[in-house]
Amino acid sequence: MTDPRYSVTGSNYPLTEKQRELISIVEAIGPGMAARAAGYDREASFPFENYAEMRKAGLLGLCVPEEFGGRGADLRTYSIVSATIGKYCGATALTFNMHACSTLWPGILADDLDMTSAQRAEHEKYRKVHFKRVVEDGAVYAQPFSEGSAAAAGKAPFGTLAAKVDGGWVVNGRKIFASLSGAANYYGVLCTEDKPDLSMRDTLYMAVPGDAPGLTITGDWDPLGMRGTVSRTLVFKDLFVPDDAAMMPRGVYFQAASRWPHMFTTLSPTYMGIAIAAYEFTVKYLRGEVPGTPPVKRRMYPTKQIAVAEMFVKLEQTRALFLRMLDDARVDPPKDARLRAYATQYTIMENANDICRLAIRTCGGQSMLKSLPLERLYRDSRCGALMLPWTAELCLDRIGREALYEPGEADD
Ligand SMILES: Cc1cc2nc3c(=O)[nH]c(=O)nc-3n(C[C@H](O)[C@H](O)[C@H](O)COP(=O)(O)OP(=O)(O)OC[C@H]3O[C@@H](n4cnc5c(N)ncnc54)[C@H](O)[C@@H]3O)c2cc1C
Repeated sequence: MTDPRYSVTGSNYPLTEKQRELISIVEAIGPGMAARAAGYDREASFPFENYAEMRKAGLLGLCVPEEFGGRGADLRTYSIVSATIGKYCGATALTFNMHACSTLWPGILADDLDMTSAQRAEHEKYRKVHFKRVVEDGAVYAQPFSEGSAAAAGKAPFGTLAAKVDGGWVVNGRKIFASLSGAANYYGVLCTEDKPDLSMRDTLYMAVPGDAPGLTITGDWDPLGMRGTVSRTLVFKDLFVPDDAAMMPRGVYFQAASRWPHMFTTLSPTYMGIAIAAYEFTVKYLRGEVPGTPPVKRRMYPTKQIAVAEMFVKLEQTRALFLRMLDDARVDPPKDARLRAYATQYTIMENANDICRLAIRTCGGQSMLKSLPLERLYRDSRCGALMLPWTAELCLDRIGREALYEPGEADD
C-alpha cells in the first residue's frame, strides 16, 4: 500500500473492503504505468501495455454491475480508483474514464432512471451484450461525443445522425477529439435520431465497432498534453449498426444528463491524481529523494517550505471538495449539491494545473527536463479545464446562472 500521505483519500477515510482491494490492485500496477508514461507522451501513442495490465487485473469490468460479472463499482469507487490511476499516468486515467463510464452509465446509473417496462426490457437485453464483451472478451469502449459545435456542451442536438432502418440504424457524421481512436474495440457515439425537427430529447447512444465498414479515423494528433489519449477524428459514412448497438434506450441519455449531473464529473478524478502526483514529486525532490537525481536537499530554504505549504493547502482544499462531491452523487440531487459538483469540477481542473505550476517554480529548472515527470504533469493538467460539457468556463457559467435564477425564472 502506498504512503497514506499520497493516497487519493488520505488516511482515516471510510473505505470499503472492495475499495481497498481495488486501490491495491492499481497501486501494484501503477509504478509500471508511471515508468511507461514518458514514452507514450513522447510518441503520442496509446498505452496498450497499461490496458493489457488492467485487463489482466480485472479492472476493465470495474463499473459493470456484479450481476453481469463485473466489480459493480459505483461513482465513488470509480472516482477513487480512477484518481489512483491518475497519480501514475494521466493519459491512461483519462482514457479509462471513457471506457469505465461506458459501463457506469448504462449500468448502475441507468438503474436510477425512469423507463417504461418495454424500455427497461430492451435495455436489459442490450446492455448484457456490451457488458459481456467487456467482462468476457476484454473489450474497450470509447466515448466520442464532441463535434466542435454546441452539442457537447449540452446546448444543441448532436449533428451526427442515426436513421432507423430494418434491424438497426445507419449513422452519418463526425466526432472530434475521440480519445482511444484506433485503440477502442467500440466507440459509444452520441447521435440524434434522423427525423424532421432534430431534438436533444432524441439523443441516441450507440456502440460502433472499431472495424465497422464506413468508419474512418482521420487527422493527426500532436497536442500539448494528454498525448497518450490519441484523440483523433472519427468519420461515419453510411455506417450500419444493429439494434443491439444501443447503449441506452432512445431518450434515456437526455434524462440521465438532466437528472444525474454527477455523470459529468468523471473526468476530474484523473486530474485529482495528477495534483497528488505533482505534490508528491515536489516533496521528494526537495528532500533529495527522487530516484535518478543527485541526493541534493533543498528543503531547508524558507521559500521552498512556503511553496510546499501553499501546494498542500490547495491540494487539501481540492481533495476535500472531491470527497464531498462523492457523497452528493445521486439521481435528482438538490440544488446545492448540483452547484457544488460544478464548483468541484472547476476547482480540481484549475487547481491541478496551479499545483503543477507551483511545483515547477519551486523545484526549479531541472524539474522541467523531460527526464523527470513534472513537466508532463504540468502539460497534462492544462487539458482538464477544456473538456466539455463541464469546462472550467461552463462550470462558472452554470453556477452563476443557477445561483441567481430558479428554474423557469426570467427577467422582464
Ligand atoms: C486530451 C483531450 C481528450 C479528449 N477526449 C475526448 C473524448 O474522448 N470524447 C469527447 O467527446 N471529447 C473529448 N475531448 C474534447 C473536449 O471534451 C472538448 O469537446 C474540446 O476540448 C472542445 O474543444 P473546442 O475548441 O472545439 O471547444 P469549443 O466548443 O470551441 O469551446 C471552447 C470553449 O468555449 C466555451 N463554450 C463552449 N460552448 C459554450 C456555450 N454554449 N456557452 C458558453 N461557453 C461555451 C467552453 O468553455 C469551451 O472550453 C477531449 C479533449 C482533450 C483536450
